[in-house]
Amino acid sequence: MVNPKACIVALSFLAAILAVAPAVQAADQAYSLSPKVKDTYSAITAQPAVKKGLDFIKADHNGTVAEQKQINSIPSPPFKEQKRAADYLKRLSASGLTNVAMDKEGNVCGTMQGTGKRPKLLVAAHMDTVFPEGTNLALTEKNGVLHAPGIADNARGLASLLGVVRAFRIAGIKPVGDIMFCGNVGEEGLGDLRGVKALFRDNKDIDGFIAIDGTEAEGIVYLATGSHRYEVTYKGPGGHSFQRFGLPSAIHAMGRAIARIADLETPKKPKTTFTVGTVKGGTSVNSIAAEASMLMDMRSDSETELLAFEAKFLDIVKKAAAEENTRWGSDKITVDIKLVGNRPAGTQPSDAVIVQTSWAATNAVGLSPKLKGASSTDTNQPLSLGIPAVTLASGGTEQGNHSVSESWDPANAWLGPQRIFLAIIGLAGMDGVSAPLLPKR
Ligand SMILES: [Zn+2]
Repeated sequence: MVNPKACIVALSFLAAILAVAPAVQAADQAYSLSPKVKDTYSAITAQPAVKKGLDFIKADHNGTVAEQKQINSIPSPPFKEQKRAADYLKRLSASGLTNVAMDKEGNVCGTMQGTGKRPKLLVAAHMDTVFPEGTNLALTEKNGVLHAPGIADNARGLASLLGVVRAFRIAGIKPVGDIMFCGNVGEEGLGDLRGVKALFRDNKDIDGFIAIDGTEAEGIVYLATGSHRYEVTYKGPGGHSFQRFGLPSAIHAMGRAIARIADLETPKKPKTTFTVGTVKGGTSVNSIAAEASMLMDMRSDSETELLAFEAKFLDIVKKAAAEENTRWGSDKITVDIKLVGNRPAGTQPSDAVIVQTSWAATNAVGLSPKLKGASSTDTNQPLSLGIPAVTLASGGTEQGNHSVSESWDPANAWLGPQRIFLAIIGLAGMDGVSAPLLPKR
């Protein structure tokens, strides 16, 4: 998902250049592959080494799931991914990648050197979870289904990435372009994509990106829903509820704002949504509240709609402070509005080479590809920069993600890493067999 330190200027610019994203497309949509993509996949899938890699991934299923459980047992709350990152760094080293290191932001990456260096492909799975410190991560297993917060999102993605790296080594496949494999920080919530933002800031030579996230092995995410998040804090004088009655209240001011926000209307298409996610404030039942704050999430598949909604929201939160002051003839209520999340929306044509390649790779493992509607993932960042990117899932079936009742069914889960393995070979090229489909930027 997305990150927090962006600026309004950039947003206005994006609004001007971004088109409205299409709605979810039907699974049986007509889709045609270019002769180049078709030929590439005919050549790749005929290779014994590729067959060997695919067989290995399937045979390695239990090993991958075991690693997934180990990774998930290490807590990785937002902004506190360090322990999991240190562990993942060791796993990347053990997988045989070179230049394995942690960057300043906390991402851990290693390189699989290609025979021709470019194009450079980044493949990453996010290490952070939405779960705060102290969440019980104990795993239970019922009828083969694994239950634990984070077991799918994104311990599965992290384990799949390692399985794919192992498959390259076992099969002896040399890519043409360099491939950077990373566990990245800051995808969820207020992490605000800080991990991928740093990766694309510090590695200007990345030509394309695959994020490993989600579990639906036939889905292809290629459009990015934008989101803005705000922390709004009302402050006032505070005082005894009886003795100081007549002073304005921070909570009452915020209540006024929430009531109005709740009545706002947004278009169904392009999908535009909002919620006040958390509220806090006040000190006791018999105190006029001196402080109240809320976190607000707004999203849209269209940057234009997002900005239009944001303008209404900002107007409401300011007016609510003024109204509370007017009610009590005061000027003591103030409002502090902080942008804490800014994930840019981004789009690319549904027939972009990276989308076609993902489609061909999905077909090649025997699944029916499905172009998904826009969503918010690590791909928002590269897509907003015009860099080809897709989010491909890691297999199996997740339920209840982002809740403590999260579960993951491992049935046929190897199809996830198998497809990612094939997509990487297509994009980065295979020495002596196929040229990279991903263009060098
Ligand atoms: Zn995720």
